[in-house]
Order: sequence, then structure tokens, then C-alpha cells
Amino acid sequence: MYVKLIDYPLDPALLVACGGRICYSDKHASDIYKMSDDEANKMVQHAIDSHHDSLFEHVNFTFLIEDVSRVLSHQLVRHRIMSPHQRSQRYVTLHKGEYVTPKSIEENPEAKKIYDFAVDQAAAAYQTLIDMGIPKEDARYIYPNAAHTQLIITINGRSLQHMLGLRLCNRAQGEIREMAELMLKELRRVFPEFFNHVGPNCYMMGHCPEGKMSCGKMNEMQEKYKVD
Ligand SMILES: Cc1cc2nc3c(=O)[nH]c(=O)nc-3n(C[C@H](O)[C@H](O)[C@H](O)COP(=O)(O)OP(=O)(O)OC[C@H]3O[C@@H](n4cnc5c(N)ncnc54)[C@H](O)[C@@H]3O)c2cc1C
Repeated sequence: MYVKLIDYPLDPALLVACGGRICYSDKHASDIYKMSDDEANKMVQHAIDSHHDSLFEHVNFTFLIEDVSRVLSHQLVRHRIMSPHQRSQRYVTLHKGEYVTPKSIEENPEAKKIYDFAVDQAAAAYQTLIDMGIPKEDARYIYPNAAHTQLIITINGRSLQHMLGLRLCNRAQGEIREMAELMLKELRRVFPEFFNHVGPNCYMMGHCPEGKMSCGKMNEMQEKYKVD
């Protein structure tokens, strides 16, 4: 898996702060825009504290996501407030050996043998169908969810906060959790004033919203995501 943040605002705090200030000031928008880093950061903190979440819709982030499974991409695109594009299986031929192996299978040699055999069989059947003249868009039905895919997504700060809250949770599936971790690392690098506050829902809310399904590790999670 490869996750790379390829585009983000030059000054995300300023954009968020401008949105905040414009609500309450009688100045022209172009005057509001002029503020120090310190003033902008204070406004960002105020937006976080007061849950003025819509302000974080002004900042957009674009990620490349490589060599993840169709299991992951199916879960990812359930988040409706983003713009995703994904490699087409109608136009691009799938290749043998390009698939994700979950950790539990990777670590179990017997399970890995069964898994690799099944995926290879599917790949061989796919190639046979293609060679018979079956269109890719139909032959692909036989391919497993494990198949590699490539995506580019653009998503705003508010939607990221929501998505990462769910997908960094221990209840989220392993592969998408790994993707969420890599995203958060990049986001904390370019906009720490906001993303240091973002983590799994228990980290942001101060309690676990999962009820009986809770992993029971809230304290560990708080430690893991907190920034000194
Ligand atoms: C651990 C886990 C297990 C899951 N298991 C399943 C499962 O078994 N089956 C399954 O089908 N899905 C499952 N999902 C996916 C889940 O149901 C959601 O589709 C996914 O998490 C996207 O979240 P969302 O709908 O809150 O937010 P997004 O689509 O990211 O939207 C963000 C927010 O915008 C608002 N919003 C967006 N669209 C609308 C709308 N049309 N109307 C009103 N408000 C809207 C809501 O407030 C929403 O929370 C699972 C997710 C997780 C994290």
C-alpha cells in the first residue's frame, strides 16, 4: 500500500480562519483575509472547540492510493462526501500476482497456501476467458476482492475528520485502518493545528461510541493519538 498526499492548501489555517471571521466581521472579505499566523491558528482552535465543523470544508486534500484491494476501495467509497476516481476493470486488464494478502493470512503459512492457490486459479480463469474473447468487463466477475486497485481521492477536512474517526477505530477493518493511519500522518504534517485533534472517534469524543462492540482499549488509543 502506498498513500501520498499530493495536493493541499498552502495555508489551510488561513482558509478556515477566513471562513470563521467572515461570519462575524463588518469588514470587506479582502480585509478579513489579512491576518497573522497566530490569529489564524487561534480561529482554528475556536472552530474545533465550538464544533464549527463546516469551516473545515474550505480545505481540500488530494491523495494517491496505490496497490490496495477492492475490499478497501469498496469501503472507502461509502464515504459520500469526497471525489474518488479508480482504475477501471472494464478498460484495464488485471494481472496475475497483483493482489493484497491480509496479515492474518500472510502470517499463517497453511492459510497462505490456500489463499494464493485460489487467487492464482481465479487469475488463470480470467486470462482464459479474455483469450476466448470475453470482454474484460465480464471476465472480471471471476476476480477476487483481493485484486489491486489504484485511486485518487479529493476530500475536505470535515469529511476527513468524519471518515478518520470511523476508520482509525479498532473496529474498522485492518487494511482501511492502515490507509487511515497513513493519511493522518500526512495530514498532521501539513495542517497540525486541526489534524492533531483528529483520530479515532474515542480520541475525539473522549468516550467510545461503540457500546457493546467497544474494543475496550480507549486509554491506549488516547495515548497512541495524542500529541504532546
Ligand atoms: C466498523 C464499520 C463497519 C461497517 N459495517 C457495515 C456493514 O456491515 N454494512 C454496510 O452496509 N456498511 C457498513 N459500514 C459502512 C457504514 O454504514 C457507512 O456507509 C460508512 O461508514 C460511511 O459513513 P457515513 O454514512 O457516516 O458517512 P459519509 O458518507 O462519509 O457522510 C458523512 C456524513 O454526512 C452526512 N450524510 C451523508 N449523506 C447523507 C444523506 N444522504 N442523508 C443525510 N446525511 C448524510 C451524515 O451525517 C454522514 O455521517 C461500516 C462502517 C464501519 C466504520
